[in-house]
Amino acid sequence: MKDCIFCSIVLGDIPNYTVYEDRHVLSFLDIYPIAKGHSVLIPKVHAETIFDLDEELLKSILPGVERTTEIINKKLRPDGFNIGWNHGEAGGQAVPHFHIHILPRWHGDGGTNMHGIVNNSGDIDVADLANFIR
Ligand code: AMP
Ligand code: ZN
Repeated sequence: MKDCIFCSIVLGDIPNYTVYEDRHVLSFLDIYPIAKGHSVLIPKVHAETIFDLDEELLKSILPGVERTTEIINKKLRPDGFNIGWNHGEAGGQAVPHFHIHILPRWHGDGGTNMHGIVNNSGDIDVADLANFIR
């Protein structure tokens, strides 16, 4: 898509430090890393969020995540990873082209886990919410 920074990377108009690439996805080092080896993986077609990806494309993404993680794991030998994505503005998504962050983690690196993102469970208890969702 025109004016999309990640589409420009796919097209080669903006350079990147590629970690892994196949027919469907490209992963590259994040230009503003928050961990050593911080990478992002994108589908090569433009899609803002997972809601915009069809099932076949969705299936093609996880193998790329695994390959990217494996490459980083072999080279950097981290103690663990956080892998996930920011969805939508409220979720902290800045680039509107779906991307998965792959964050290598080390004991004592000062980071936190998914539970550190938010701590505000709302005004409904879990059982009521389950009923509402069903
Ligand atoms: P998000 O906040 O989830 O939308 O993350 C977007 C990520 O893309 C940020 O971590 C940025 O540092 C990263 N980013 C933006 N532009 C580039 C670029 N040209 N090359 C590599 N990473 C980028
Ligand atoms: Zn795009």
